[in-house]
This record gives sequence, structure tokens and C-alpha cells, in this order.
Amino acid sequence: MAEKKTGPTKAEVAALKALAAAPWLKDARCQRVFDALEAGGYPARAVGGAVRNTLMGLEAADVDIATPALPQTVMSLCRAAGLGVHATGLEHGTITVVSGRAPYEVTTLRRDIETHGRHATVAFTEDWQEDAGRRDFTMNAIYCDRHGGIHDPLGGLSDLMVGHVRFIGSAVERIREDYLRILRFFRFFATYGKGDIDRDGLQACLNEREGLSQLSAERVGAELLKLLIAPRARDALDVMAATGIDRIVTGHRSDLARFEKLAALQTRFGRPPDPMLRLAALATQSASDARAVASRLRLSNAQRSLLVVAADARTDAQFDDESAQRIALYRFGEEAYLVQCLMAWARSKTPVDEDGHFRKAIELPARWLPGSLPFKGSDVVSLGVPPGPIVGEVLRQFEDWWVEAGFPLDRKLLEAQLSVLVDATRQ
Ligand code: ATP
Ligand code: MG
Repeated sequence: MAEKKTGPTKAEVAALKALAAAPWLKDARCQRVFDALEAGGYPARAVGGAVRNTLMGLEAADVDIATPALPQTVMSLCRAAGLGVHATGLEHGTITVVSGRAPYEVTTLRRDIETHGRHATVAFTEDWQEDAGRRDFTMNAIYCDRHGGIHDPLGGLSDLMVGHVRFIGSAVERIREDYLRILRFFRFFATYGKGDIDRDGLQACLNEREGLSQLSAERVGAELLKLLIAPRARDALDVMAATGIDRIVTGHRSDLARFEKLAALQTRFGRPPDPMLRLAALATQSASDARAVASRLRLSNAQRSLLVVAADARTDAQFDDESAQRIALYRFGEEAYLVQCLMAWARSKTPVDEDGHFRKAIELPARWLPGSLPFKGSDVVSLGVPPGPIVGEVLRQFEDWWVEAGFPLDRKLLEAQLSVLVDATRQ
């Protein structure tokens, strides 16, 4: 029988080294925040995404700092140290401290005394264990001091290393406090999970899934979009589909194979893993589906437009040969054209690794871009057409001819065709 190890594993030792050397932690701006709190005699520790991601060798986004100092104390100590302060989430104990333009979210240690499935009434505490206990997953309750020494009261490090996304305490209770944790569970599994998803956690999500409808659409949308671009998104979506949670979130049946194909195409062609295209592949069949999903998740106008463009892609003749592709590229513009190529391919029976017409279509903008229409209204007027709606009509007819003729450049030919159209207005 293998002996039970007591010390840290090799991987854990390497991760801890990386944490102690983390650029964001050694950054003088971050250290100044620690200085400011220490000047009042208060300890402080980084916690959450920055610590977790650094331990995994991933990019750290924002830095969250926990401290027993009360919010008012945090504000006065940081002001005295010449740092900027904003009372961004005062009722939950969070102050944004700005040090050399970089924001740090400093939150007073707390426990949640009353929760309503969304918002908590909090009580501040000096107990690190209590603060850890109100967080969602063990891997999110790893603290590190200003030198990179960790405080890990719930064993989050070993869970993180083996890819085990585990609720702190009772999964059902934690979910009832905030139903967003259902989606965070799947998002963290998609991002950090190895092997199978935690069974207790999954069962609790299944039992409590109806609570998702209490959440604000924005919070749900933001979590879903992060999930869709995570490395194991497909695995997380499989489980979500098996429990019906996907439909509660998007309102539509998931097409998992198409989602995976689109993601593979984005990878193959070095495109960014855009969540809107992935959402379109997953949950829409048409532009009207896209509009419905966009309203359900309260997406921004820009996100909605992209989702509609993607959902609108057809698999028909548009991409069959180069002249059809050129017309589509001209009509849609480069970005929308590429989005529609990828979506049309994902919806077709053509495999991801094939090198046929879809591949040529995607590579077209690198070889050829349409010029702009060679004439303006003033050119039509200078041929004797009186200013007015007829000028626009002539230009539209000219454009149709020019596009169908394959975007010719020969000036004489272009002028001759324009004259023909102008003459026709005089008949
Ligand atoms: P990311 O920034 O990648 O979303 P994060 O873990 O830093 O990840 P934040 O929203 O910045 O996420 O939250 C910081 C920490 O606060 C988390 O790591 C977690 O400990 C805790 N937390 C955030 N949201 C919740 C929640 N809904 N329930 C419980 N704890 C939460
Ligand atoms: Mg964070």
C-alpha cells in the first residue's frame, strides 16, 4: 500500500515558489497597500483569483486583498499613505484602493449572517477561518501574505492541484445562499477541473437549479460567457445539458457538437475564442433565437449584434466558390464575413480538418480585399443627373453591376457602365 504523504507534493512546492515570485505581488504598488495597512498594525493577505491563478501558472487578473481592518480604517490608513480610495462595496466591506493607478479590492474579513439567494447581510470579523468559510470553493480560499507565504485553512491548494472544484461546507446550503454559485461551479470546473466533476456539488446544483431564475440576468450572462471560453467548456456543458441547467440559462436546447466544432475551428484558424460565436453555435438556430438569447442574458448592444450576425450565417451557396465568397466579403465586411464563414462551417457537415471551400473562404481576406465603390454621388451628378433620389438609385444599380462583374478596376470600363446607367435615366 502506498504510504500517505504528509508534506507538500513536488507540484505544490513549485506552485508555491511561483507564488512567492509573482510579479503582481512583488509590484511596488501592491506592496504599498500592504505597507499602508501594516502602518495601522493590521495584517493583510491576497486571496481569490490572483492567488489561485498564479498557483496554476495562469495569468492573474485583479488582485483581491483581505484584512481584519474595518472599511473605515482601510480608507483612512490608505488615504494617509497617499493612496486613492473608493467606497465601491462599502456595505460588503470592500474598498477599492488605487495605488499608482492600479486598483486593489480590499475587503474586510467577514461572515455572511443572512443571505437571500443573492445578497448577503454581513458581519465583520477578525477570524480568517470565518472569512474563508463564507467563500464558495476551497480553491478560492487560499490566502497569501505579502511575501508569498500561504495560509490555506481549508486545503484549497491540494484541491487546486488535483483539479477538484469543491464547495466549502454543504454544497446545498452554499448554493441556497447564492444561486450564482451553481454557474460558478461549472465555470471553475471548466477552467481548473481535472477528471470528473465533484458528485456532491453536481447533485446539489441539480436539486437547486430552479433557484437560478432568481438571479439577475447580467450576473448569469457574465458567468456563462466566462464558462464558454474555458478549456473544458464542452465537458461542463455536457453536464449542464444532462441536468437541464443549460436550458434554464439560455432558454434554448444546446447543440454540444456544434459548439465543440466551432471552438475547434477558432483554434485551427488562430481566431480568439470569442464567447459570442460560441454562444451562437451552442444555443441558436436563427437570428430570432439570437435576439431572444441576447435579451434573456441582457447582453450589451455590441454583443447582441455579434450574436445576431453569427446566428444569421447560412451554409448555402454563399461560400461555394471564390466569386460568391468575394461578394459575401464585400457585403458583410471582413469581420462579419469571417464570423459567418466559421459559423457556416460549424453548421455544415464539412469536418474541421478539411481543406476545401470553407478553408479557402476563411483565407480569402488575407489574399484579397474588395476596394471601395469607385464612384460617388457627385460623379453621377457631374454626368448631368439632377441631385435627388435618382442619384442614389443610379449608384445602387452601378454597385450591383460592379459586384456581379467581380469588382473590375478598369477605369474606362467603369466609366462606360456608369454612362449607360445615367443614359437609361433619361429614357
Ligand atoms: P475571477 O476574477 O477569475 O472571476 P475570482 O475568484 O477572483 O475569479 P472574484 O469575483 O474577484 O472572483 O471574487 C474574489 C473572491 O471572492 C473569490 O475567489 C471567492 O473567494 C469570493 N467570491 C466571489 N464571488 C463569490 C460568490 N458568489 N460566493 C462566494 N464567494 C465568492
Ligand atoms: Mg478577482
